[in-house]
Amino acid sequence: MASAELIKRLEETIENFPDFPIPGIQFKDISPIFLDPKLYEDVIADLVTFSKGKIDAVCGIESRGYLFGIAIAVALEVPFILIRKKGKLPPPIISEKYDLEYGTAEIETREGQIKKGQRILIHDDLLATGGTTEAAAKLVEKQGAIASQFSFLIGLKGLGGNEKLEKFGAEIYHILEY
Ligand code: AMP
Repeated sequence: MASAELIKRLEETIENFPDFPIPGIQFKDISPIFLDPKLYEDVIADLVTFSKGKIDAVCGIESRGYLFGIAIAVALEVPFILIRKKGKLPPPIISEKYDLEYGTAEIETREGQIKKGQRILIHDDLLATGGTTEAAAKLVEKQGAIASQFSFLIGLKGLGGNEKLEKFGAEIYHILEY
């Protein structure tokens, strides 16, 4: 959906750091996007086009999912809900555990912020193994809402992320794939 021109500008802007933070990881640094307000605006416009008329709220995943997620929600005039890492939100909260390569992690939302039946966009900057996003979708569905769309700036191929999200039957969008 994104224009070839937007994809090219993003490819030129996002920086790749091999073996960061650990050997074997190709770390994608999106922070240079924020040095170019026009590029940021065009990325938001593209993500907004994907979700326009299709969602009732946006859930952003801490922390880089907030950088674009809030702007998408404001543009579409729908609520934004923070999905946070364990222990950051005051109770009552709803939580979901998920597996990491070593050990487990947990994400949380404030109880009552997601409403039953809402069509939710789950947004993050990057889809890798899909573990975090899958947990976010389970957290949404646990609260009687629908994980209707997933959007990312970047999708990493070959790590199983798309496959992990397929079971939700939602639309999946990434502007760029590596
Ligand atoms: P995953 O649960 O494996 O899909 O990981 C997704 C989360 O980890 C996102 O919130 C990303 O910000 C972060 N992440 C994973 N891999 C990378 C990478 N290669 N470069 C930058 N961020 C990454």
